Amino acid sequence: MTSTNRFDAIVIGSGVSGGFAAKELTEKGLRVLMLDRGVMVEHGEGYPYDGKPAYEIPARNMMPKSLVENDYFISQHGYVAPSNRRFYNDDRLNPYAYDEGSKFYWIRPGAVGGKSLIWGRWSFRWAPEDFAANKRDGIDGEWPIGYDDVAPWYSYIEKYIGVSGSRENLPYLPDSEFQPPMPMNVAEKWLKQRLETQFPGRKLINTRLSNLTEDKPEQGRTRCQVRNQCGNGCSFGAYFSTQAVTLPAARATGRLTLQSDAVVTNLDYDPATKRVTGVRYIDAKTGQAQTVEADLVFLCASAMASVQLLMNSRAPGSERSYFDESGTLGGYVMDHIFRVGAEGEIPGMQEYIEYGRRPGGVYIPRFRNIGGDEGVGFSRGYGYQGGARRDPAAPVGFGASMKQGMRKYGPWKFSMGAFGECLPYKDNRVSLHPSKVDRFGVPLMRFDVRFRNNELKMMADARVQGEAMLKAAGLTNVISWENEHVPGDAIHEMGGARMGTDPRSSVLNSWSQAHAAANLYVTDGAQMASVSCVNPSLTFMALTARAADHAVKQMRQA
Ligand SMILES: Cc1cc2nc3c(=O)[nH]c(=O)nc-3n(C[C@H](O)[C@H](O)[C@H](O)COP(=O)(O)OP(=O)(O)OC[C@H]3O[C@@H](n4cnc5c(N)ncnc54)[C@H](O)[C@@H]3O)c2cc1C
Ligand code: SF4
Repeated sequence: MTSTNRFDAIVIGSGVSGGFAAKELTEKGLRVLMLDRGVMVEHGEGYPYDGKPAYEIPARNMMPKSLVENDYFISQHGYVAPSNRRFYNDDRLNPYAYDEGSKFYWIRPGAVGGKSLIWGRWSFRWAPEDFAANKRDGIDGEWPIGYDDVAPWYSYIEKYIGVSGSRENLPYLPDSEFQPPMPMNVAEKWLKQRLETQFPGRKLINTRLSNLTEDKPEQGRTRCQVRNQCGNGCSFGAYFSTQAVTLPAARATGRLTLQSDAVVTNLDYDPATKRVTGVRYIDAKTGQAQTVEADLVFLCASAMASVQLLMNSRAPGSERSYFDESGTLGGYVMDHIFRVGAEGEIPGMQEYIEYGRRPGGVYIPRFRNIGGDEGVGFSRGYGYQGGARRDPAAPVGFGASMKQGMRKYGPWKFSMGAFGECLPYKDNRVSLHPSKVDRFGVPLMRFDVRFRNNELKMMADARVQGEAMLKAAGLTNVISWENEHVPGDAIHEMGGARMGTDPRSSVLNSWSQAHAAANLYVTDGAQMASVSCVNPSLTFMALTARAADHAVKQMRQA
């Protein structure tokens, strides 16, 4: 093997988690190879529709039906559009399977940067209660770490990436190291005042968003220009993405090698030394198989893809992964439950219109089962994400009268959708398909994941409460909805290789390090033992930086 095939560390995946792993490890002096199966997208030049109005984008940025049906039938649930379809997975080329009655939307990226290019950027800390909840509720899956273990790493990440938000001092939603918040509009301020009066204890707050409200010149990043076109890529670097933030930092060290179109298939393992000895991948452009080696491997391919890779790493003839000593690998898969919401019209304020196109919105943090079971028929809780806006008035008539009508605005409307916590169930699991393989010879991922009573009761409550809050606040024409709940649809899939103190019931230890291999860390959503109800990616970043620090200290000690 030539020296170019050997590195200090290999990072698999370049998304939110992998980008941070590469940054941290290179900055700590390691020569790092980052492998990603996606196509290369460079910051700026890789965003052909950045800043373009809809009429300059093919099909006015509406996905043609045939394209959705043939190639993006899953990605459509992740808001794919002509302007960003290069950032998404082609579902026809890269299929997966689910059992009858357990539909799962596995929404995947298709480019370097992973979902960091297309995510919604809502960024919240977990609360101390989130890490304690499984133990408190007597649910299998006690976290081996608590909030205090992660808090310094949250601070470190937030200061680096820039998170805008307001300090609220809420026990259930710890404050971050904030840049100034994206301001609420006049209708949201009106609603905040009325909702908080009607429902003491409930809050409507500015969202917490990794969109900059202050420049970061040292990173070449400019504050958000309020265009709400983040899904097309942002050459201002005004929102957190691998391309804008972690990749430049890793490259600046001169110690990063990045290989795109590199589909990792499995890890080599030496049972005698209990170490990962190699990473195998296929070059998607040439079809050539490669093996690379390193002292350290960070697996950050995203929750389900990392589990698939772990499961496909096994001795010839064996069905069991090297890393599944506990028999829990693939189990306890979770996603947030959502597709519940409420909307209504806000009376008055006709003299105001919105200014700019602010990304994000406002947030109603969890108010159910705070500090324990409140007897509402389900455990854990949900938060509401929403925003107020004025749409153009519905034009009336034809010709001049229609044009005249289009110049006006309709009433203020407020709409919101809930994200709720799913409990960890051992038999919500993924496995390798026994007979079907993909074009690289990797067994297809097969999902058997369902929402249960607790989640469905929670969403029924979210609907009732959502409607009640808007009505009590004085909105009119209030409607609410509850649509089909499909796991994966919230794009917050987690679990499958959870952390724990006991190697007999978990895959990773408290440092995101495999019990079976001291030189393997899995720092994406696969490691999560529960899911809170807030968006998860900030926690993945914090746990990745924490794990990188641990790994390098361990290497130096050795
Ligand atoms: C539309 C949308 C909105 C979202 N909004 C939010 C939000 O507001 N807040 C929030 O916290 N989260 C949000 N999420 C979820 C968030 O994007 C993910 O939690 C986060 O990106 C996961 O980071 P990751 O690094 O684990 O995975 P990813 O970002 O998916 O990166 C994984 C990388 O690994 C690569 N990879 C996979 N398999 C292999 C392989 N076999 N070999 C080589 N490379 C591989 C992929 O190509 C990819 O680049 C949203 C997601 C979407 C799609
Ligand atoms: S809204 Fe802000 S972050 Fe999003 S694309 Fe525009 S400038 Fe960039």
